[in-house]
Amino acid sequence: MTTEIQPAAELVALVGDFARREIAPLVAEYDRAEHIPRNLLDRMADLGFFGGVVPVEDGGLGLDHVTFASLVEEVSKVCQIMGTLVSMPSGLVGAGIARYGTPEQKERWLRPLAQGRIFGGSAVTEPQSGSDVAGMQTTYRREGSGFVINGTKAWISNLDIAEFFLSFATVDRSLRHRGVSAFIIPRDTPGLGLHPYKDKLGFRPICTGEIVLDNVRLGPDSLVGDEGHGFEVAMTAVERGRLGVAARSVGLAQACMDEAIAYARERRAFGHPIAEFQIVQSKITDMTVGVHTARLLVEDAARALDRGDRGRRLTSMAKMYASDVAFRSAADALQIHGAYGVSPEFPVGRLFRDAKVLQIVEGSNDLHRAIIGEMAVGIRSDS
Ligand SMILES: Cc1cc2nc3c(=O)[nH]c(=O)nc-3n(C[C@H](O)[C@H](O)[C@H](O)COP(=O)(O)OP(=O)(O)OC[C@H]3O[C@@H](n4cnc5c(N)ncnc54)[C@H](O)[C@@H]3O)c2cc1C
Repeated sequence: MTTEIQPAAELVALVGDFARREIAPLVAEYDRAEHIPRNLLDRMADLGFFGGVVPVEDGGLGLDHVTFASLVEEVSKVCQIMGTLVSMPSGLVGAGIARYGTPEQKERWLRPLAQGRIFGGSAVTEPQSGSDVAGMQTTYRREGSGFVINGTKAWISNLDIAEFFLSFATVDRSLRHRGVSAFIIPRDTPGLGLHPYKDKLGFRPICTGEIVLDNVRLGPDSLVGDEGHGFEVAMTAVERGRLGVAARSVGLAQACMDEAIAYARERRAFGHPIAEFQIVQSKITDMTVGVHTARLLVEDAARALDRGDRGRRLTSMAKMYASDVAFRSAADALQIHGAYGVSPEFPVGRLFRDAKVLQIVEGSNDLHRAIIGEMAVGIRSDS
């Protein structure tokens, strides 16, 4: 484990170099096999890639958000799935524990997570509620000093590697967000059933599926934050996660642009490289402008978080815009590849499939569109 703090630019360059040398040759195969090689994750852990913005005293690298976003983008240019795993300790899985966890919870779960010694999951979505988090049906009741949880979570990532799940349940559905509490559920807890989905369109190497909570009994030390304040823990996880999704989207869009330019220079039609056709150039122009503006928006959102702002509006904007750019860039890169775009020989098909999923996870882009609009007209506060 690398414990010394490296200058930001050096760290980002190290990550990029590792991704190109060690990850790139394996991506197509592990995407097809729907499996992440554990030894690759272990090597990334040895280099300290998972520490992100988690404070140094909790086992992380204590990076600023701007450097963290560059690091996530760099690895995502090669594989945004690895970008997802690198982001999780600082976002969806770790951020709620970093902010609301007890010293014991941080020592037991956050430290090894930030060091890449363990992985975790964040179980918010349910079969009947995704965007509407407060509409969750999973319930808990008190039993002695502990809790008993019943319900089902859906579309939860890292079912294969997670040692624990940060999850959420309500004491009374009619209370909506005011009834929700957050819990850490260790993987080996009796009553926890894990049911992976197979053959997803995108995000294939990430094992995603259903979690059934059947009379899951937890001690008082499992509660994260105060009882009845779990919605805030969930929102911290999801909001912090958005910066990572945005940075991953920029990395993926950059990869689409690089692939499209290389192919367009090489491929000839009507006696010319197709790069000479203005309609092809126009698509590459859109990618160039899209990647640049998305990156600026991600940096702006990261700077807001570094100032200590909640950054709700900016992280929503960055997530929505960058993943829309990623999807449009992937569709155009695929078009530029013609028939070869649908061949597994070229990476653009995988980029296209993953880009579609980036528009859905951690807040569907339609939801972000609604949130940003509501903030603009004053229906919703952005702090
Ligand atoms: C590969 C993958 C991995 C995932 N990993 C996780 C994970 O680890 N943990 C986790 O908790 N979840 C995870 N999810 C779930 C993901 O976060 C949800 O799919 C997402 O929040 C959307 O919820 P939903 O699918 O229930 O869509 P719904 O909420 O049913 O929405 C469907 C559509 O309705 C529209 N819509 C809904 N609400 C609004 C609104 N207010 N305004 C405008 N339009 C709206 C949008 O078009 C939206 O796309 C994952 C999903 C995928 C695909």
